[in-house]
Amino acid sequence: MNDEDLLEVVHQNLCACALDLSLSKNIEALLKHPRRELHVSIPVMMDDGRIETFQGFRIQYNSARGPTKGGIRFHPAETANTIRGLAAIMTWKCALHDLPLGGAKGGVVCNPKTMSERELENLSRAYVRAVADFIGPDRDIPAPDVYTNEQIMAWMMDEYSAITGTTTFGVVTGKPVVLGGSEGRHDATARGGWIAIREAAKETGLDLAGATVAIQGYGNVGSNAAICGADLYGCSIVAVSDSKGGIHHPEGLDPHAVMAHKEETGSVVGFAGATEITNEELVELDVDILIPAALENVITEKNAERVRARIIAEFANGPTTKGADMILEPKGVHIIPDFLCNGGGVIVSYFEMVQNFNMDHWSEDEVYRRLDEKMTQAYHKVFESGKGYGVGMRQAAYSVAVERVVQAMIGRGWI
Ligand code: GLU
Repeated sequence: MNDEDLLEVVHQNLCACALDLSLSKNIEALLKHPRRELHVSIPVMMDDGRIETFQGFRIQYNSARGPTKGGIRFHPAETANTIRGLAAIMTWKCALHDLPLGGAKGGVVCNPKTMSERELENLSRAYVRAVADFIGPDRDIPAPDVYTNEQIMAWMMDEYSAITGTTTFGVVTGKPVVLGGSEGRHDATARGGWIAIREAAKETGLDLAGATVAIQGYGNVGSNAAICGADLYGCSIVAVSDSKGGIHHPEGLDPHAVMAHKEETGSVVGFAGATEITNEELVELDVDILIPAALENVITEKNAERVRARIIAEFANGPTTKGADMILEPKGVHIIPDFLCNGGGVIVSYFEMVQNFNMDHWSEDEVYRRLDEKMTQAYHKVFESGKGYGVGMRQAAYSVAVERVVQAMIGRGWI
């Protein structure tokens, strides 16, 4: 993870769309910085009786369109600057998918892979105690992100409820279904991403049946992306990877078997019958669809020239730098930008909020139907705007989203 780069990439993209939208310098300046930040030190009792202090953040980027929304990451290389960039991306994501929400992001610098279940619970509860005044169902609603999951969301909801003295399901999303979670939330990002790919395939004349796919990252999003691609669309998943390395099989991998192998051994590496490759090699494979589904800044000026995929579907946030875009777009690569492609997660989070507010529970079919509608609408809005402005998909997505945020700021009298 690179401290400076993600926020820098966000600024570069913002500058480009500010020209298309003829934004004034004051508006651009307001959009370049988060509205509010909370930095906290979190003392946590570890299993050996020691107290360890962790650094945490919650950054609310822009709330013009509504309460702020975005995940919480637990990662050893977390930085405030990365969280700022991700909070900005959440703002554009909620606007692009036309949700009545602003954007935020949170993080704790920690290594969950070396922590016990009890230590993780202590940390999750302590984080909520530290940020309790800053979040809330009408204010700012966290969700799962890198290395956080539905169990962590359940502890956070429980801790917040204990503080307020009321069961407050709506304070976080991505909860277990038995605790106010929504059907379809666990694989919503992956499903939503594939709906965007389905529409992109129609526009670019790619037949998805048998299309080859490489996926970087095999966490919640990457593994579900592999399963959806194979099971729902008949694609051939030829390569996948995780932080320990990658595996390649030209005839296609069985994503369920790879998942079982990862659960057993902790990595996709060593999967029987596959050839080992590096994460760098995976990005450069000759495939129809490349899915970066891990961390930011993996496609840069350094490797963009060697990327051979026809479609890049950004299931991760911020995987492609601006410099890489300038190499890929002239090559005719169809990029489905992050906050369009991976919006399924927050869309179903929003459905979860609506269900929580109404004490309601929708069926899985209902959730998937509404998700399909939202993703399809957003994809075509961006595709058509790109044609209108004569720009690539990323710049078009920025223009649609930023325009909506600016309209809300004007309406509120902020500018
Ligand atoms: N962490 C996910 C994202 O980056 C989901 C956020 C949410 O559901 O609020 O979009």
